[in-house]
Amino acid sequence: MSSGTPRGKKKRKTMEDELLSGENDNIAADRKRGAKFYIKKTLKYIFYAVIAAAWISVLLVIILRRDNPLVKTPVLSDSARAAFEADPEGFELYHVYPKEFMSEEGAFQLKECVYAPVPGEYEIGLRIAWTQLRYCKDCGRLYTPDQLEQQKKYDEEDDKRSCVASGHELVRASGTDRGVKFRVFDSKGNEYENVNCVTRTKDVNFGIIAIKYEYLRISYGGLYFELGDNIINRESSVSRAGSDETVTQGGASETESSGTRYFLEIYDAETDDRLFVTCIYDNDTAIDDEEYEIPDKDYLS
Ligand SMILES: [Zn+2]
Repeated sequence: MSSGTPRGKKKRKTMEDELLSGENDNIAADRKRGAKFYIKKTLKYIFYAVIAAAWISVLLVIILRRDNPLVKTPVLSDSARAAFEADPEGFELYHVYPKEFMSEEGAFQLKECVYAPVPGEYEIGLRIAWTQLRYCKDCGRLYTPDQLEQQKKYDEEDDKRSCVASGHELVRASGTDRGVKFRVFDSKGNEYENVNCVTRTKDVNFGIIAIKYEYLRISYGGLYFELGDNIINRESSVSRAGSDETVTQGGASETESSGTRYFLEIYDAETDDRLFVTCIYDNDTAIDDEEYEIPDKDYLS
């Protein structure tokens, strides 16, 4: 026992030293670990914040880009609605599907076009993305993204009117007070009267996220289509008969099957420059039955 005491003391001493030095090491290591820990933690929070910001902006864009319900709600003119109320059973409505329903990039986009044969009315739902249109500060002209893309193909020598080639200052048209006008005409040279127009605007600008949409329902009167010649009715008559003769007949009339073609033109209200034109109906344009109901009072002027 006595012989073991000094050794034990010595051992205790070294153990204490070890403990002490170990403690110092631990403190240093802790500090190191602490710094690492906080850097790691901060990075983690930054990472989460970036992910959250990305998600919030994606959601924001989705919410902001959501269409105003007006653009898909057939409204029609007062007289067309009166015709519907007088005889709801005899009032037909067709959903029309124009083949080219938007300009490239979607600066102009047709939505839920309808045709009511009884009052002879055609109504176009239209969304205009004003933030996609450009305005030239030097010549005061409006452009769609695809028109500017076209201008890039020419240099100043080839096309003196090319704002891109001339290095003109192009700004977002949403920041200007410029407007557009519409015209509906046919391949025989007739122009049709605008009988109703309802609009709504969504204008939000957060700097990075700027959105200005204009939603319209524009109706035109005096359009009487030969629905019996429409592709839908022609196809069903072919399949009903099923004989070669009928198919040949259908094929023979194919060249002039499209009949009178109807167009919508969108142009700059100030300079009359054409911005977009598309065929809104011919016999080859698909149509589909649709139910009409009187729209929300809010949309009735
Ligand atoms: Zn210009």
